[in-house]
Amino acid sequence: MPQGKIVKALSGFYYVKEDENGRFVQCRGRGVFRKNKITPLVGDEVVFQAENDTEGYILEVLERKNELVRPPISNVDQAILVFSAVEPDFSTTLLDRFLVLIEANDIEPMIVISKIDLISSEEVRQEVESFAKDYEKAGYTVLLTSTLDTSGVDKLMPYLEEKISVIAGQSGVGKSSLLNMLRPELSLKTDDISSHLGRGKHTTRHVELIPFGSGFVADTPGFSSLDFTDIEAEELTYCFPEMRKLSADCKFRGCTHVSEPKCAVKLAVEDEEIAQYRYDHYLSFLEEIKDRKPRY
Ligand code: GDP
Ligand code: ZN
Repeated sequence: MPQGKIVKALSGFYYVKEDENGRFVQCRGRGVFRKNKITPLVGDEVVFQAENDTEGYILEVLERKNELVRPPISNVDQAILVFSAVEPDFSTTLLDRFLVLIEANDIEPMIVISKIDLISSEEVRQEVESFAKDYEKAGYTVLLTSTLDTSGVDKLMPYLEEKISVIAGQSGVGKSSLLNMLRPELSLKTDDISSHLGRGKHTTRHVELIPFGSGFVADTPGFSSLDFTDIEAEELTYCFPEMRKLSADCKFRGCTHVSEPKCAVKLAVEDEEIAQYRYDHYLSFLEEIKDRKPRY
């Protein structure tokens, strides 16, 4: 039986891109997954039966790697976090919030610092470059881009290959401008895509995976809700890769890196191996999670 990926779901139809030959088959759901109460999601890898060249039935939904609620999409490999250098100003607090939420979903984040053409002083340039270095040191890929003079944008393309990516970041940072530049043949106006990308915040709507090379990018941004409701205190170390690596060296098992003696993380902060502000954000997020009222 052929397999493929659901790239779009609309009015009871699932548009499946067949893995082997890349053709699109419009499928209805039938059988097995209904009994198991699985609703197929965009991003699902499915087994289907073709009735003819363009139509078929989904027989089985293969096991998911992960599942996002907003937008409703499964098997997300990567989140491209777009943060502008200016307009709005670069905020490490907000960036770290996004990173924690993405890491907690087992999705690989990468960071795009956009609008670098708008940097107007040497001081700001140095600041942005030093943030980029800090995040690279923490273990992230960081790209600096401008859609105005196109610099850096081509570097993003290879990162999209063979993956399902979602794009994330505040509104106005240049998410749709970036996608547009990568695929000018989409020939959508920035504002059009913008409003398109902006939808889905309040209503559930259909999501679509847009092909980029051999990969896909969801047309709706992810992680619009930035609260830590679903994250436990014990998980937080895991969401900071530079701490995750070191925590095995902490003297205490289950060290929270707050006031325990012989904490490898605190030592690394003292040695400036871990950026002070990353550690400070860790502490304030930890407080926030601990202060959370129990859920009923
Ligand atoms: P989104 O809300 O994140 O999708 O942001 P948009 O792509 O709609 O961009 C918001 C505004 O920023 C638009 O007016 C864009 O023209 C502008 N913009 C986007 N990228 C850049 C850039 O690299 N340089 C400059 N100067 N402006 C940009
Ligand atoms: Zn520790």
